Amino acid sequence: MKIGVDAGGTLIKMVQVDGDSRTFTKYPSKNVDQVIDMLNKNHAEDKVFLTGGKAEYMQENLNFEVETSIEFDATFRGLSMLLEEAGYDFDRYVYLNVGTGTSFHQASKTGQKRVGGSGVGGGTLVGLSHLLTGISDFKTIVEKAQLGVRDNVDLKVHHIYNGRPTPIPGDLTASNFGNVLNGDDKASDEDQLIAVIGLVAETVTSMALNLADAFETKKMVFIGSTLLDNTVMTDIIKSYSHLKGGEAYILERGEFSGALGALM
Ligand code: ATP
Ligand code: MG
Repeated sequence: MKIGVDAGGTLIKMVQVDGDSRTFTKYPSKNVDQVIDMLNKNHAEDKVFLTGGKAEYMQENLNFEVETSIEFDATFRGLSMLLEEAGYDFDRYVYLNVGTGTSFHQASKTGQKRVGGSGVGGGTLVGLSHLLTGISDFKTIVEKAQLGVRDNVDLKVHHIYNGRPTPIPGDLTASNFGNVLNGDDKASDEDQLIAVIGLVAETVTSMALNLADAFETKKMVFIGSTLLDNTVMTDIIKSYSHLKGGEAYILERGEFSGALGALM
């Protein structure tokens, strides 16, 4: 059996490949020592491949030989494979890995170039949500956000133009959280949570659109656990991209790109 591990800032993603079968697992990165114990105990005979920010720490604490690879290269290899398996054949595209933080890449068939990063990512999503509402569980945040109303928190372009003709689409966000002082403090937890997700989603999409424009492509691929079962976020990414003439692709299992690529 071969095991690929992408040990990130928040989650350790693991894929076990046995013949044609793939098993996908995740562990909180704060349990890294337990994952190391488990690998030492059960997988010392297997071929283990590591990548991600905590790969070196894991390697130092495993009592058998493993191979490591650079996170950005591993992610690109895994992503290329997932794109092919999903039937996409892109010559040029950009991709954003929305993990704890976000990194942006321009890619062609033959390679990728990391062109930047942003501290706005999944860590922002859970951190700000916790500060505002006391809720820190990712799944609960997303579930509650589905019931929220962004207009109670965010200022849209049409709010500023008071129903008069707008030079850009009125439904665009003029200011994330910019409507808070205009209302009567009626933003519920749900409203605040969808606004947090909106802030992260629009920030990364806006960066993706600029990056894609500079790279002369419309294709933008989003990966990372932040998107996982997070239709609030992926709906905002898709509609904002569409509004601006971009094409957003969200890949199933995209968050496992690094773990898959590590063992290639
Ligand atoms: P990085 O690549 O920046 O080092 P990472 O690889 O750990 O970080 P991902 O696993 O891609 O990052 O994404 C982490 C984000 O995914 C979290 O910040 C959170 O928003 C979201 N998330 C999804 N599921 C969970 C979960 N079960 N527990 C915690 N966070 C989750
Ligand atoms: Mg990562």
